[in-house]
Amino acid sequence: MIEPDTPVDVADLRLRDYLPRPALRVAEHPVERAAYPAVDAHNHLGRWLSQDGDWVVPDVSRLLADMDAANVRAIVNLDGRWGGELEANLERYDRRYPGRFATFCHVDWAETAAPGFGERLAQSLRRSLAAGARGLKVWKDLGLGLTDERGKLLLPDDERLAPLWQVAAEAGAPVLIHTADPRAFFDPADATNERLEELLLHPDWSFAHLGGGHYERLLEALEGLVAANPATTFIAAHVAGAAEDLDLVARLLGAYPNLFVDVAARVAELGRQPRRAHQLIVRHAERVLFGTDVFPPTLGEYAIHFRFLETEDEHFAYALDEPPPQGRWRISGLGLPGDVLDLVYAGNAERLIAGLGRDPGPTLP
Ligand SMILES: [Zn+2]
Repeated sequence: MIEPDTPVDVADLRLRDYLPRPALRVAEHPVERAAYPAVDAHNHLGRWLSQDGDWVVPDVSRLLADMDAANVRAIVNLDGRWGGELEANLERYDRRYPGRFATFCHVDWAETAAPGFGERLAQSLRRSLAAGARGLKVWKDLGLGLTDERGKLLLPDDERLAPLWQVAAEAGAPVLIHTADPRAFFDPADATNERLEELLLHPDWSFAHLGGGHYERLLEALEGLVAANPATTFIAAHVAGAAEDLDLVARLLGAYPNLFVDVAARVAELGRQPRRAHQLIVRHAERVLFGTDVFPPTLGEYAIHFRFLETEDEHFAYALDEPPPQGRWRISGLGLPGDVLDLVYAGNAERLIAGLGRDPGPTLP
């Protein structure tokens, strides 16, 4: 990338190097501390997503100091995996700093290579919850890559997975499920794709090869899953994978009381439709959870999220990076009322996720 202020012949300018500075003069209200003690309900503090296999956060006491500075009371760590790795996460976070962290487990999808996997996955979840995991994280590979023993793509509403959701329901443990991805990742990465710059940087984020209609099929499968398991609490990550269509999200929240959504990594989407987003969150204030998916967590990124939720500032950057990573636009704040902020920041997470300070851990039958 060209450094700012480097003289460049505009005839040779590439889009990536075009970084216009808004001429707008608008009010700015930076928010460095959340107005209410917040729970970041979607984050990653483990080892499986890091480049070098080391902890995402090398120094936990420094993280705690940052959390205190930002008024982030607790973080949900979605990286628990299972077995020894779960133990390592629980030791490092949940047990060492009670009330400050809640670690979710995963299941080992390698099990789906042999028949009867539903029961084996359910057993694994039972063990992980008994060990101290506070919920189950299901990643987007369910529906985008995981296959059954015959090599057929496994979708979230596959009935063979029912034992898993049943165990979560019995334990009162929520399932945080990431289904699909931004709508544009399913379209061809061509000159009309609004996330083209991002897809050029990360070609493996494109799912255009799965064919037209797969995005819609995934959203149907998510709805089928939530509808078929009313006793299971589902937190559908990233505004249920449908932040580009808040009417759809509103319909799902209206239809299924066991469905919740987090706003992680979707400030850019919500902030470019601030009136509709405000309306949705106020209408379903008990069903929306604050989360960032920014790892390692930083004060700068937290401040952007707080400003977005709390202020009515207009036309500001949704990320620290230039050019903005998810598309070339700016956002406006929601200016949510205090009672709504209290629920979204923490009340909903505290009600759904054990170990965050207000109720005891999940009980097993
Ligand atoms: Zn995530």
